[in-house]
Amino acid sequence: MNFFSEKVAIVTGSSNGIGRATAALFAKEGAKLTITGRNEETLAETHKLCIDAGAKGEDILQLIGDVRDAAFCEQFVRKTIEKFGQLDVLVNNAGAAVFDFTGKTGIEQPLSNYDTTIDVNVRSIIRICKFAVPHLEKSKGAIVNVSSMGSSPFISPVPYYAMAKAALDQLTVQMAGTLIKRGIRVNSVNPGAVATNFAVTSGATKDMMEQMMDTMADYAKTIPLGRTGLPEDIGKIILFLADRSQSEIIIGQRIVADGGTLLMNSLLSQNI
Ligand code: NDP
Repeated sequence: MNFFSEKVAIVTGSSNGIGRATAALFAKEGAKLTITGRNEETLAETHKLCIDAGAKGEDILQLIGDVRDAAFCEQFVRKTIEKFGQLDVLVNNAGAAVFDFTGKTGIEQPLSNYDTTIDVNVRSIIRICKFAVPHLEKSKGAIVNVSSMGSSPFISPVPYYAMAKAALDQLTVQMAGTLIKRGIRVNSVNPGAVATNFAVTSGATKDMMEQMMDTMADYAKTIPLGRTGLPEDIGKIILFLADRSQSEIIIGQRIVADGGTLLMNSLLSQNI
């Protein structure tokens, strides 16, 4: 029997990208799932992918809402328990940056961008965990946060996003240290560049997207692995970290999954 059969997972931000791929992998492994996002149409596509991966319709709960809304966070945890009776895995994947296309860099970018970015990537996770922890304590479950390679100390075009993910890394450590005493393991995966709709979700227009794709194609050549990540690459790591039978010994860690990008950055910065 698979570790995840009869287990229940919530994947936030599963209407697209990494969250969607993760949901499909959980479905393939026999987990019951709550999938969430703001876009009804794309969330329905994820639902279909989960069914295609082997899930039964009654084993998927589909809820639309914004993780910045405390009432929605309470609701999707409560409804998961009402429907499935337990919670074993919480994947805090929903996240976004606010791209500034006016040429402003660093702290010239408006503080309102900072507030939005922190709200989505950090405050929402604290909020969701407060609701989920009592249930995860009962199941001796796991939390996997989706952070970013961008949390590392280097210059970013989205400085507040880099700061938010750095705060999330610290949140992972702080939660891991206290929650392991209640039997809950907390870790994070920190992806490098992954081919998703992230820039669109974060406010880029189609033209901007095309420009970024060209840049990404050049950028991919500088990644030691020779390619950008796929959502499934990250999903597999999330399942590994959520699976106590595989990764029980890993607690409070950030697993950087970037095809060697950070390694290269550090080598370049030393002129080697
Ligand atoms: P996508 O834009 O493809 O997916 C983001 C998901 O998060 C969507 O399902 C989106 O829902 C959801 N989401 C965003 N904001 C909110 C919100 N306020 N409330 C509810 N749901 C929200 O991007 P990725 O799959 O790439 O991003 C997933 C995670 O991976 C994020 O945390 C991101 O920071 C992280 N990451 C991504 C990298 C990349 O290169 N792609 C690199 C490093 C980290 P909807 O579309 O329905 O609004």
